Amino acid sequence: MSDYDVLIAGGGVAGLSAALTSSRAGRRTHVLTGPALGGQLISIERIDGYPGFPDGVPGYDLCPIIQDQAAGVGAEFSAAEATALQADGERWRVTTGQGDVRARALVIATGTTLKTLGIPGEEQLRGKGVSHCASCDAPLLRNRIVGVIGGGDSALQEALTLAQHTARVIIFHRGTSFSAQAAYVQQVRDNPKIDVRFGTVVEEALGNGALTGVRTRNLSDGRTDQVELAGLFVYVGLAPATAWLGGVLALDASGRIPVDGAMRSSLPGLCAAGTVRAGSVGRAASAAGDGAAAALSIDRYLRDGTWGD
Ligand SMILES: Cc1cc2nc3c(=O)[nH]c(=O)nc-3n(C[C@H](O)[C@H](O)[C@H](O)COP(=O)(O)OP(=O)(O)OC[C@H]3O[C@@H](n4cnc5c(N)ncnc54)[C@H](O)[C@@H]3O)c2cc1C
Repeated sequence: MSDYDVLIAGGGVAGLSAALTSSRAGRRTHVLTGPALGGQLISIERIDGYPGFPDGVPGYDLCPIIQDQAAGVGAEFSAAEATALQADGERWRVTTGQGDVRARALVIATGTTLKTLGIPGEEQLRGKGVSHCASCDAPLLRNRIVGVIGGGDSALQEALTLAQHTARVIIFHRGTSFSAQAAYVQQVRDNPKIDVRFGTVVEEALGNGALTGVRTRNLSDGRTDQVELAGLFVYVGLAPATAWLGGVLALDASGRIPVDGAMRSSLPGLCAAGTVRAGSVGRAASAAGDGAAAALSIDRYLRDGTWGD
């Protein structure tokens, strides 16, 4: 069985940043990247608000830079996915599809997955018009009409990306105003290719083998409508990837991991970083900061056994 000083579960910006800081501290560090090396950012065409990139930066450019930087100071990577966690004497043992891995300390940085709506047609038409990835699918939808569901940052940001490629974007939002940051709201308002339908829920994705449209319902008058669409992009919230932890750690009501200001969980040697932790503000820069803080807490713990103030 492989044995490390520090194991990091998650290869998003939080995990990559933790790997960089941990390896720089001289700790033998391994990253289980799971299904998506680079995490959510890898499929985002333009990451806004990340320090050092005033004009934004594509996620598929940024993540490999951080990975190379971490590998350059000794971090190791495997594409394995963590499926279970248990204490093993003074160490932590993580089960993966490629065998068990042990480490003196663990950073949990498994992030989040985009929630689904659970409406009829959604699963059957996934990859056939229903998608979570605007930058992947937008070039295939040139000059077509597409829908976006949601009213937060992700929904508006991806609607703006889609508007660059498609003929028209219709945003369906159950609320009566957006919760996204003001800059995105203004850009959406100013974009003549984007229409917004507030107070509207999508009840069914339509199509036989490929998406042809959606059935919607207006929440104020109950009227239903059918809208022809070639693509449907769903951004209705994020679910933390913590099911694999079993009952080892107590989670908050949303399924996220409570930590202190130094990213330490209630269990010695176990930190959480990025959007999987309770209280994350959900931005790439804060996830990177969390990763660095977690790695430094663990370095201190491995040096003098200190856990907590
Ligand atoms: C559409 C969209 C647009 C966004 N735009 C911006 C933006 O412009 N600016 C910004 O600052 N932020 C943006 N964000 C938020 C940003 O993506 C997140 O803050 C950031 O990705 C969080 O990083 P993370 O490492 O915590 O988690 P994630 O990016 O979710 O990475 C999680 C990692 O864990 C791995 N993993 C999952 N389960 C397991 C497992 N069981 N075992 C091992 N590994 C596992 C995954 O493979 C992945 O590598 C956007 C998000 C979305 C959805």
